[in-house]
Amino acid sequence: MIYLDNCATTKPYKEVLETFVEVNDNYYGNPASINKFGKTTNKLLDAARKQVADILKVKKETIYFTSCATESNNIAIIGSVEHKKDFGNRIIVSKIEHPSVLETYRELERRGFILDYLNVDSNGLIDLNHLKSLLTKETILLSVMHVNNVYGGVQPIKEIVELLKEYPKVHFHVDGVQGVLKKEINLSDIDSYSFSAHKFHGIKGVGVLYLKSRRTVHNITFGGGQENGLRSGTVNVAGAVSLAKALRLSYERTPDVLKKHREFKKLIINELDSINHVVINSPLDDNYVDSIINISLPKIKGEAIVNSLNERGIMVSTTSACSSKTFHLNEALYARGLSKENIEGSIRVSFSYKTKLEEIKTFVKVFKEEYNKKFKEVIESGI
Ligand code: PLP
Repeated sequence: MIYLDNCATTKPYKEVLETFVEVNDNYYGNPASINKFGKTTNKLLDAARKQVADILKVKKETIYFTSCATESNNIAIIGSVEHKKDFGNRIIVSKIEHPSVLETYRELERRGFILDYLNVDSNGLIDLNHLKSLLTKETILLSVMHVNNVYGGVQPIKEIVELLKEYPKVHFHVDGVQGVLKKEINLSDIDSYSFSAHKFHGIKGVGVLYLKSRRTVHNITFGGGQENGLRSGTVNVAGAVSLAKALRLSYERTPDVLKKHREFKKLIINELDSINHVVINSPLDDNYVDSIINISLPKIKGEAIVNSLNERGIMVSTTSACSSKTFHLNEALYARGLSKENIEGSIRVSFSYKTKLEEIKTFVKVFKEEYNKKFKEVIESGI
């Protein structure tokens, strides 16, 4: 199998799996217990928190362990609005967010908040002039993702931070799932940042919320008061320790991996862009990460391309894994103003540190073969 669906999830490192088992086996004490064993476990949890914080260049008190990025996004969005609701009732979300952000905003709209959708330009990057026009004295929350999960667009976080200086009441939340370790970000500029371990070779079921100030977010679940009261429930210590390990191992590899991904993306674009009907929705420039490439064959359904590559042992995806089972136009591509045919015919190819040059060459070869055999004639007969 050639696995090119690393945006959806990644293969855990062997060392990470070993750490997970070892911590569960030898340090199964409850970190909230005051007995000696509990205290030892708590030390381990504290060390994991410090390791994550050091890599992200923030204080360890700002790192909260959760079950996944979806949970982190929910806590940051609902929790900040709970804190600020007496100061305003408008919230802004970019149109290209992951459903774990968009659907949470829609829930807040149902609860009575006024929801403003923020546009992107045709490149899929935030329209800063539109943001300027949306910000009001009533605005209390804004979400813009770090890197888009469908086409890899890197959002102008620094420029947004500049604009927000005139609006100190606004909580700025950034979904960092596809951006962490891939693009620099200064976390002390923003209010919250979320990510999931399984996107960088950690295990599923553990995530992080960075929160600049605990005082600015109400907890949305209630219980034993773990994680400084933000996220009650016995902490998944083995998950947290293994997340810290996965983050460190990935961090150490980052410079080499980024170089390698640029070569892969260059090769794919060089080989496929010259085919008449292929559209590349993720150009080779610094406004996009190199680990994601979105490619379309307008007039062909993305599912058909995914399935034909599947049959040849190559795993790619239509849009984000969470929505690929329901058939509707991808919201992020739609927000860019791409044609219906382009959106329907799009696939996403995504790399990890494990991806090899030979695999990319095979992908290109198989894509061309399937195109010539199955799709070219269909497209040309419809023109
Ligand atoms: N945000 C983005 C940008 C994502 O790509 C994903 C997952 O694909 C999520 C949030 C949700 O992550 P999880 O399913 O680990 O909660």
